[in-house]
Amino acid sequence: MALALRARARRGAAVLALSGATAAGGCATISTQQEVQLGSDYARQINQQLPMLNDAATRNYINTLGNQLAAVADQRGIRYTFQVVNSDAINAFAVPGGFIYVNRGTIERANNLSELVGVLSHEITHVSERHSIEQLQRAQGANTLLTILYGGVLRRNPGTIERVGVQGVGTAVFAGYSRDAEREADRGAVNIMMRAGYNPQGLASFFQTLMGERQRNPSKVETWFATHPTTQERISNVQAMIQATPGASGNARLVTDNRAYQNFRARVRSLTPAPQDRGRR
Ligand SMILES: [Zn+2]
Repeated sequence: MALALRARARRGAAVLALSGATAAGGCATISTQQEVQLGSDYARQINQQLPMLNDAATRNYINTLGNQLAAVADQRGIRYTFQVVNSDAINAFAVPGGFIYVNRGTIERANNLSELVGVLSHEITHVSERHSIEQLQRAQGANTLLTILYGGVLRRNPGTIERVGVQGVGTAVFAGYSRDAEREADRGAVNIMMRAGYNPQGLASFFQTLMGERQRNPSKVETWFATHPTTQERISNVQAMIQATPGASGNARLVTDNRAYQNFRARVRSLTPAPQDRGRR
Protein backbone atom coordinates (compact mmCIF):
# COMPACT_ATOMS: atom_id res chain seq x y z
CA MET A 1 0.00 0.00 0.00
CA ALA A 2 2.68 2.49 1.02
CA LEU A 3 4.67 1.77 -2.15
CA ALA A 4 1.66 2.28 -4.36
CA LEU A 5 0.96 5.56 -2.64
CA ARG A 6 4.53 6.74 -3.18
CA ALA A 7 4.34 5.82 -6.86
CA ARG A 8 1.25 7.97 -7.18
CA ALA A 9 2.96 10.82 -5.37
CA ARG A 10 5.76 10.69 -7.94
CA ARG A 11 3.22 10.82 -10.74
CA GLY A 12 1.74 13.89 -9.08
CA ALA A 13 5.19 15.46 -9.00
CA ALA A 14 5.58 14.75 -12.73
CA VAL A 15 2.30 16.50 -13.45
CA LEU A 16 3.47 19.49 -11.49
CA ALA A 17 6.82 19.57 -13.29
CA LEU A 18 4.86 19.70 -16.54
CA SER A 19 2.77 22.62 -15.36
CA GLY A 20 5.87 24.29 -13.92
CA ALA A 21 7.12 24.57 -17.50
CA THR A 22 4.24 26.90 -18.32
CA ALA A 23 4.53 28.80 -15.08
CA ALA A 24 4.43 32.57 -15.17
CA GLY A 25 5.77 34.62 -12.29
CA GLY A 26 6.55 31.47 -10.31
CA CYS A 27 2.89 30.46 -10.31
CA ALA A 28 2.14 27.06 -11.86
CA THR A 29 -0.86 26.74 -14.17
CA ILE A 30 -2.96 23.62 -13.83
CA SER A 31 -5.09 22.75 -16.88
CA THR A 32 -8.54 21.17 -16.64
CA GLN A 33 -7.02 17.91 -17.87
CA GLN A 34 -4.39 18.02 -15.12
CA GLU A 35 -7.05 18.90 -12.59
CA VAL A 36 -9.08 15.83 -13.55
CA GLN A 37 -5.95 13.65 -13.40
CA LEU A 38 -4.93 14.88 -9.95
CA GLY A 39 -8.51 14.74 -8.70
CA SER A 40 -9.09 11.19 -9.90
CA ASP A 41 -5.84 10.01 -8.25
CA TYR A 42 -6.94 11.60 -5.01
CA ALA A 43 -10.51 10.26 -5.34
CA ARG A 44 -9.15 6.74 -5.90
CA GLN A 45 -7.31 6.96 -2.58
CA ILE A 46 -10.40 8.24 -0.82
CA ASN A 47 -12.51 5.47 -2.32
CA GLN A 48 -10.07 2.89 -0.93
CA GLN A 49 -9.84 4.45 2.48
CA LEU A 50 -13.31 5.65 3.34
CA PRO A 51 -16.30 3.29 3.60
CA MET A 52 -18.68 4.01 0.70
CA LEU A 53 -22.37 3.19 0.86
CA ASN A 54 -22.55 0.33 -1.60
CA ASP A 55 -26.11 0.58 -2.86
CA ALA A 56 -26.92 0.95 -6.55
CA ALA A 57 -30.23 2.80 -6.03
CA THR A 58 -28.56 5.34 -3.74
CA ARG A 59 -25.70 5.84 -6.17
CA ASN A 60 -28.09 6.34 -9.09
CA TYR A 61 -30.20 8.86 -7.24
CA ILE A 62 -27.33 11.03 -5.99
CA ASN A 63 -25.55 10.95 -9.37
CA THR A 64 -28.68 11.85 -11.34
CA LEU A 65 -29.47 14.73 -8.99
CA GLY A 66 -25.85 15.87 -8.73
CA ASN A 67 -25.22 15.83 -12.47
CA GLN A 68 -28.40 17.80 -13.08
CA LEU A 69 -26.95 20.51 -10.81
CA ALA A 70 -23.39 20.27 -12.18
CA ALA A 71 -24.72 20.69 -15.73
CA VAL A 72 -25.89 24.23 -14.95
CA ALA A 73 -22.73 25.12 -13.01
CA ASP A 74 -19.77 23.78 -14.93
CA GLN A 75 -19.39 24.28 -18.68
CA ARG A 76 -16.05 22.46 -18.95
CA GLY A 77 -17.50 19.10 -19.91
CA ILE A 78 -16.11 17.41 -16.78
CA ARG A 79 -17.96 14.27 -15.70
CA TYR A 80 -18.96 14.66 -12.06
CA THR A 81 -19.06 11.65 -9.75
CA PHE A 82 -21.02 11.65 -6.50
CA GLN A 83 -20.39 9.16 -3.70
CA VAL A 84 -22.19 8.59 -0.42
CA VAL A 85 -19.77 7.91 2.46
CA ASN A 86 -21.12 5.38 4.93
CA SER A 87 -20.82 7.55 8.03
CA ASP A 88 -23.58 9.04 10.11
CA ALA A 89 -21.53 12.18 10.86
CA ILE A 90 -22.73 15.18 8.83
CA ASN A 91 -20.18 16.18 6.25
CA ALA A 92 -19.61 16.78 2.56
CA PHE A 93 -16.49 17.64 0.59
CA ALA A 94 -15.29 18.16 -2.96
CA VAL A 95 -12.15 16.98 -4.73
CA PRO A 96 -10.92 18.91 -7.79
CA GLY A 97 -11.97 17.41 -11.11
CA GLY A 98 -15.59 16.79 -10.09
CA PHE A 99 -15.53 14.23 -7.27
CA ILE A 100 -18.10 15.06 -4.61
CA TYR A 101 -18.55 13.14 -1.36
CA VAL A 102 -21.61 13.34 0.89
CA ASN A 103 -21.90 11.43 4.15
CA ARG A 104 -25.08 9.41 4.62
CA GLY A 105 -25.59 11.43 7.84
CA THR A 106 -26.03 14.54 5.69
CA ILE A 107 -28.80 12.85 3.70
CA GLU A 108 -30.43 11.48 6.83
CA ARG A 109 -30.51 14.96 8.39
CA ALA A 110 -31.54 16.91 5.26
CA ASN A 111 -35.26 17.40 5.90
CA ASN A 112 -36.21 18.02 2.30
CA LEU A 113 -34.82 17.83 -1.22
CA SER A 114 -33.82 21.50 -1.37
CA GLU A 115 -31.57 21.10 1.72
CA LEU A 116 -29.60 18.31 0.05
CA VAL A 117 -29.53 20.26 -3.22
CA GLY A 118 -28.07 23.21 -1.28
CA VAL A 119 -25.18 21.10 0.06
CA LEU A 120 -24.45 19.52 -3.34
CA SER A 121 -24.60 22.90 -5.11
CA HIS A 122 -22.17 24.41 -2.59
CA GLU A 123 -19.66 21.58 -3.16
CA ILE A 124 -20.10 21.72 -6.95
CA THR A 125 -19.21 25.42 -6.83
CA HIS A 126 -15.92 24.64 -5.04
CA VAL A 127 -15.05 22.47 -8.07
CA SER A 128 -16.44 24.67 -10.86
CA GLU A 129 -14.76 27.79 -9.41
CA ARG A 130 -11.55 25.77 -8.93
CA HIS A 131 -11.08 26.85 -5.32
CA SER A 132 -8.58 24.09 -4.46
CA ILE A 133 -6.82 24.42 -7.82
CA GLU A 134 -6.37 28.15 -7.34
CA GLN A 135 -4.75 27.42 -3.99
CA LEU A 136 -2.46 24.91 -5.62
CA GLN A 137 -1.53 27.39 -8.31
CA ARG A 138 -0.64 29.95 -5.70
CA ALA A 139 1.39 27.41 -3.75
CA GLN A 140 5.14 27.78 -4.11
CA GLY A 141 6.90 24.65 -5.35
CA ALA A 142 6.17 20.98 -5.72
CA ASN A 143 6.42 20.17 -2.05
CA THR A 144 3.65 22.55 -1.12
CA LEU A 145 1.44 21.32 -3.92
CA LEU A 146 1.92 17.70 -3.01
CA THR A 147 1.42 18.43 0.66
CA ILE A 148 -1.89 20.09 -0.04
CA LEU A 149 -3.17 17.67 -2.65
CA TYR A 150 -1.86 14.38 -1.34
CA GLY A 151 -0.79 15.21 2.19
CA GLY A 152 -4.08 14.41 3.85
CA VAL A 153 -3.87 10.83 2.64
CA LEU A 154 -0.19 10.13 2.07
CA ARG A 155 1.44 11.36 5.21
CA ARG A 156 -0.58 8.99 7.34
CA ASN A 157 -0.09 5.26 7.34
CA PRO A 158 -3.18 3.17 6.55
CA GLY A 159 -3.83 2.32 10.20
CA THR A 160 -3.97 6.00 11.04
CA ILE A 161 -6.29 6.69 8.16
CA GLU A 162 -8.70 4.08 9.42
CA ARG A 163 -8.69 5.78 12.80
CA VAL A 164 -8.94 9.29 11.40
CA GLY A 165 -11.31 8.00 8.72
CA VAL A 166 -13.97 10.23 7.32
CA GLN A 167 -13.04 13.17 9.48
CA GLY A 168 -9.38 13.28 8.45
CA VAL A 169 -9.84 13.03 4.72
CA GLY A 170 -12.68 15.51 4.60
CA THR A 171 -10.70 17.96 6.66
CA ALA A 172 -7.57 17.54 4.54
CA VAL A 173 -9.45 18.32 1.35
CA PHE A 174 -11.20 21.26 2.91
CA ALA A 175 -8.49 22.59 5.14
CA GLY A 176 -7.64 25.74 3.29
CA TYR A 177 -10.79 27.29 1.80
CA SER A 178 -10.80 30.98 2.48
CA ARG A 179 -13.84 32.79 3.79
CA ASP A 180 -14.17 34.39 0.36
CA ALA A 181 -14.22 30.95 -1.27
CA GLU A 182 -16.90 29.81 1.19
CA ARG A 183 -19.01 32.89 0.45
CA GLU A 184 -18.54 32.35 -3.27
CA ALA A 185 -19.62 28.70 -2.86
CA ASP A 186 -22.78 29.82 -1.02
CA ARG A 187 -23.53 32.39 -3.72
CA GLY A 188 -22.85 29.78 -6.43
CA ALA A 189 -25.19 27.38 -4.66
CA VAL A 190 -28.04 29.94 -4.66
CA ASN A 191 -27.50 30.50 -8.40
CA ILE A 192 -27.35 26.81 -9.25
CA MET A 193 -30.50 26.11 -7.23
CA MET A 194 -32.42 28.90 -8.98
CA ARG A 195 -31.30 27.83 -12.44
CA ALA A 196 -32.04 24.16 -11.77
CA GLY A 197 -35.50 25.01 -10.34
CA TYR A 198 -34.94 24.41 -6.61
CA ASN A 199 -35.87 26.64 -3.69
CA PRO A 200 -32.60 28.30 -2.58
CA GLN A 201 -33.99 28.61 0.97
CA GLY A 202 -32.89 24.98 1.27
CA LEU A 203 -29.28 26.12 1.75
CA ALA A 204 -30.13 28.43 4.66
CA SER A 205 -32.53 25.89 6.06
CA PHE A 206 -29.86 23.15 6.06
CA PHE A 207 -27.45 25.47 7.91
CA GLN A 208 -30.21 26.07 10.46
CA THR A 209 -30.68 22.30 10.81
CA LEU A 210 -26.95 22.02 11.52
CA MET A 211 -27.08 24.70 14.19
CA GLY A 212 -29.81 22.68 15.94
CA GLU A 213 -27.87 19.44 15.54
CA ARG A 214 -24.85 21.08 17.12
CA GLN A 215 -26.88 21.63 20.29
CA ARG A 216 -28.32 18.12 20.36
CA ASN A 217 -25.49 16.01 19.00
CA PRO A 218 -22.22 17.98 18.74
CA SER A 219 -19.92 15.06 17.86
CA LYS A 220 -21.92 14.37 14.69
CA VAL A 221 -21.30 17.83 13.26
CA GLU A 222 -17.75 18.42 14.54
CA THR A 223 -16.08 17.98 11.13
CA TRP A 224 -18.68 20.08 9.38
CA PHE A 225 -18.12 23.03 11.70
CA ALA A 226 -14.33 22.63 11.52
CA THR A 227 -14.37 22.81 7.73
CA HIS A 228 -17.43 24.98 6.95
CA PRO A 229 -17.67 27.70 9.60
CA THR A 230 -21.44 27.97 9.97
CA THR A 231 -22.80 30.82 12.03
CA GLN A 232 -25.97 32.87 12.22
CA GLU A 233 -24.03 35.53 10.30
CA ARG A 234 -23.42 33.12 7.45
CA ILE A 235 -27.09 32.16 7.41
CA SER A 236 -28.02 35.84 7.31
CA ASN A 237 -25.62 36.34 4.40
CA VAL A 238 -27.29 33.51 2.49
CA GLN A 239 -30.72 35.00 3.26
CA ALA A 240 -29.50 38.35 1.93
CA MET A 241 -28.21 36.68 -1.27
CA ILE A 242 -31.62 35.07 -1.75
CA GLN A 243 -33.43 38.37 -1.14
CA ALA A 244 -31.19 40.03 -3.73
CA THR A 245 -31.91 37.36 -6.36
CA PRO A 246 -34.95 38.20 -8.51
CA GLY A 247 -37.63 35.51 -8.36
CA ALA A 248 -35.97 33.61 -5.52
CA SER A 249 -38.40 34.38 -2.71
CA GLY A 250 -41.94 33.08 -2.57
CA ASN A 251 -41.68 31.48 -6.00
CA ALA A 252 -44.05 28.53 -5.98
CA ARG A 253 -42.44 27.03 -9.08
CA LEU A 254 -39.21 26.33 -7.22
CA VAL A 255 -39.10 22.80 -5.81
CA THR A 256 -38.63 22.39 -2.05
CA ASP A 257 -39.37 18.70 -1.70
CA ASN A 258 -40.88 15.71 -3.45
CA ARG A 259 -41.89 12.12 -2.82
CA ALA A 260 -38.87 10.69 -4.65
CA TYR A 261 -36.50 12.44 -2.25
CA GLN A 262 -38.36 11.22 0.82
CA ASN A 263 -38.28 7.66 -0.58
CA PHE A 264 -34.54 8.00 -1.22
CA ARG A 265 -33.93 9.29 2.29
CA ALA A 266 -36.00 6.49 3.82
CA ARG A 267 -33.98 3.98 1.82
CA VAL A 268 -30.65 5.45 3.01
CA ARG A 269 -31.92 5.33 6.59
CA SER A 270 -32.91 1.69 6.20
CA LEU A 271 -29.46 0.52 5.03
CA THR A 272 -27.16 -1.22 7.50
CA PRO A 273 -25.19 1.34 9.56
CA ALA A 274 -21.44 1.60 8.97
CA PRO A 275 -19.46 -0.69 11.33
CA GLN A 276 -18.05 2.32 13.24
CA ASP A 277 -21.56 3.70 13.79
CA ARG A 278 -23.33 0.52 14.94
CA GLY A 279 -24.79 0.77 18.38
CA ARG A 280 -24.39 4.55 18.34
CA ARG A 281 -27.76 5.36 16.82
ZN1 LIG B 1 -17.40 25.06 1.40
